[in-house]
Amino acid sequence: MIRRIVVPVEVYRGHITEATREALVAARTVGNGVGEVVAYVYGEPPAEGTDVLELADRIIVLEDGQVGTPVAMAQAKLLRERIASSDVDLVLVGSSSWGWDVAPLLAGFLSAPLVANCQVIQHAEDVLKATCRICAGKLLVDVEITNKPTVILLLPGSYAHREVQPGKGVMERERVPASDWDARVEFKGWLEPEREDIDITQEEILVTVGRGIGQQENLELVEDLAKTLGGAVCGSRPVVDQGWLPPTRQVGKSGMIVKPKLYLAIGISGAPEHVEGMKDAELIVAINRDEQAPIFDVAHYGIAADLFDVIPALKEALVARRQEA
Ligand SMILES: Cc1cc2nc3c(=O)[nH]c(=O)nc-3n(C[C@H](O)[C@H](O)[C@H](O)COP(=O)(O)OP(=O)(O)OC[C@H]3O[C@@H](n4cnc5c(N)ncnc54)[C@H](O)[C@@H]3O)c2cc1C
Repeated sequence: MIRRIVVPVEVYRGHITEATREALVAARTVGNGVGEVVAYVYGEPPAEGTDVLELADRIIVLEDGQVGTPVAMAQAKLLRERIASSDVDLVLVGSSSWGWDVAPLLAGFLSAPLVANCQVIQHAEDVLKATCRICAGKLLVDVEITNKPTVILLLPGSYAHREVQPGKGVMERERVPASDWDARVEFKGWLEPEREDIDITQEEILVTVGRGIGQQENLELVEDLAKTLGGAVCGSRPVVDQGWLPPTRQVGKSGMIVKPKLYLAIGISGAPEHVEGMKDAELIVAINRDEQAPIFDVAHYGIAADLFDVIPALKEALVARRQEA
C-alpha cells in the first residue's frame, strides 16, 4: 500500500509550473485516494495559480528568507531529513530543468534509486511499476519499484490530461533555520534567450518540412499550406542546418519536443532523432514518396507520393472545403 508521496513544488517566476501540476496529478492517481500526497513549497506560494496545490493533502510551506531561491543543491538538502523520517514511498518530480537538477541530488542524499523518463506509474496488487522511455524514446521499459523511497522524474505531458479529485489541501508552515540553507553556489538571476520567433511547442497545427523539399525556394509552397491550415512551419534538422529555417523551428532530439493537434510531416524520412520530438502529436499525417520511409510507422495517415503533387492538391481541396462551409 502506498503511504505517502512527496512532490517538491517548482515555482518559476511567480508561477507553479505545469511539470509540478502533472507530478501532483500523478501522485493522486498513484496514491488512489489512500496514500497521502504531500507538496513541499519553497517559500511563500505565488499569489496566483495556487489552486494546483489543492491536489495535495498537505501543503508544507518552508519558510525562511532564502528557501525560495532556486539553488537545487540547497533545496534538495532541505527535503532530505523531512523525507527520510516520514515513511515516504515515492518522490515525484517533473522533468523540467529544475527537476533534472533537484531529483538526482535528492536521490543521492536519500541513497534512493532515481527512475528517469517515466511516462506512467502503475500500482496494482501491491506492485509498483514505472514505464519509462529509453533509447531516445524508441523503447519502453517497465521498472518494478521495490525501494522506499524512490525518486521518479516524470516526462512532461504524461499526466497532462488526467482528471483527478483534489486532495485535502491542508496548509502547514515550517520555519527553516538559516543554518539549514546549505548553498555552495549563489543564484544571480534568470538569463533567458531573446525570443524573436513563435514558440512551436504552443502551436496546435505544425507543418513540418524535411530535406525532401529540395531547396529553400520551395519552402514557399509549405508556408502557403501552413497559412491555409492556420498553422506554423517547422523543420527537420537538415532544413535548419541549411539555414532555411531558424533553430527555434527545429523539431527533434536537438530541437523542440512538440505535441500539436495536427503534425503534417512533409518530405521527412522519420529518423529516430526526429521522431523523438513529434511522436506524441495527436494526429500525424506524413507525405513521402518512399513508401518504406520510417515516418509512416508513426503516422496515423500516410500519403506515399511526391510532395510537389500533393501540396498544391491539398491546398486546393482545403480552399474548396472552406468555400463550401
Ligand atoms: C545527436 C543527433 C541529434 C539529432 N537531432 C535531430 C533533431 O532534433 N531533429 C531532426 O529532424 N533530426 C535530428 N538529427 C538528424 C537525424 O538523424 C536525420 O538525419 C534527420 O532527421 C533527417 O532529416 P530529413 O528526414 O529531413 O532528411 P532525410 O533523412 O534525407 O529524408 C528526406 C525524405 O524526403 C523524402 N523525399 C525526397 N523527395 C521527396 C519528394 N519530392 N516528395 C516526397 N518525399 C520526398 C525522401 O524519401 C526521404 O524520406 C539528429 C542526429 C543526431 C546524430
